[in-house]
Amino acid sequence: MFQLNNYLKPTSVEEAYEILQNSRNNVILGGNTFLKLSNKKYNVAIDLSNLELNNIVERETEYELGAYATYGDIGRFDAFSTFADGALIKCTENIVGSQFRNHVTVGASVYSKYGFSDFIPTLLVLNASVLLHKNGKMSLEEFLSKNIKKDILLKIFIPKEKINCSFKSLRSTKTDFSIVNVGVSKRNSNYLVSVGARPGLALLCHNTSKYLSENNNSIDISRAREILFEEVSFSSNAKASGEYRKKLAGNLFKRAILELEDNYES
Ligand SMILES: Cc1cc2nc3c(=O)[nH]c(=O)nc-3n(C[C@H](O)[C@H](O)[C@H](O)COP(=O)(O)OP(=O)(O)OC[C@H]3O[C@@H](n4cnc5c(N)ncnc54)[C@H](O)[C@@H]3O)c2cc1C
Repeated sequence: MFQLNNYLKPTSVEEAYEILQNSRNNVILGGNTFLKLSNKKYNVAIDLSNLELNNIVERETEYELGAYATYGDIGRFDAFSTFADGALIKCTENIVGSQFRNHVTVGASVYSKYGFSDFIPTLLVLNASVLLHKNGKMSLEEFLSKNIKKDILLKIFIPKEKINCSFKSLRSTKTDFSIVNVGVSKRNSNYLVSVGARPGLALLCHNTSKYLSENNNSIDISRAREILFEEVSFSSNAKASGEYRKKLAGNLFKRAILELEDNYES
């Protein structure tokens, strides 16, 4: 269990940010589920719960998720059971258990860029963007590619549009980490494909997405899979070999495409 010298609950984002910069041992608290696994000694823990970041709001053109909204909140947010074929719920509903999901915050889950994340690959194919206190607003893809340190993720935005989405993952047991996962979305005839838990950080597969979008009336899945394998690398860890992950990803990708074709509303 980690240790803290002090615990503060700032009343403004600027104050939270200043405290964060004061020492490299000051830390933002999310739901504390991952932090508490470490033995680190922190100076000040910064609780953002006074900053009204715990809501999910449906606006005219987008969904806005405050950093302190939890996976539990996602599961209970009515619109997410239909939006994008329920992908946001499907990608989070098997993570550990319901009590755990009621603690896990979306801000921490994105800011931490966990390679095993099920949430990030889904957000990528939904064209999500993020708002950081100091670095401002940017696409999730850009955020993932940047080496941003010591900032605070405030919000996640997801465009509200007619979109179909399929999220597929394979786990050794229902609540284990994904061995690999795949997200595919389709808006009009435009596809987006992501692969995560490679085991590296999830990425958008631009060439595969382009091929699918340009051939949406007659997709050759074998060809699409070849393109996917050309642009995505898989490696080995204690969970699985790179070769096994690659095979699984190819199968999950095919299943996602077939599911999208079944669900597609023109
Ligand atoms: C046992 C276990 C199993 C898991 N299984 C899965 C799984 O199968 N799939 C999956 O996708 N995920 C899984 N996760 C990860 C989980 O979904 C969360 O993403 C993770 O635990 C962090 O959530 P938290 O809100 O508790 O963050 P915390 O533990 O509180 O914080 C994590 C890090 O994020 C930083 N942080 C928190 N909030 C912010 C913010 N707003 N801005 C900037 N930095 C911030 C903290 O300083 C800390 O460094 C698992 C985690 C655990 C512990």
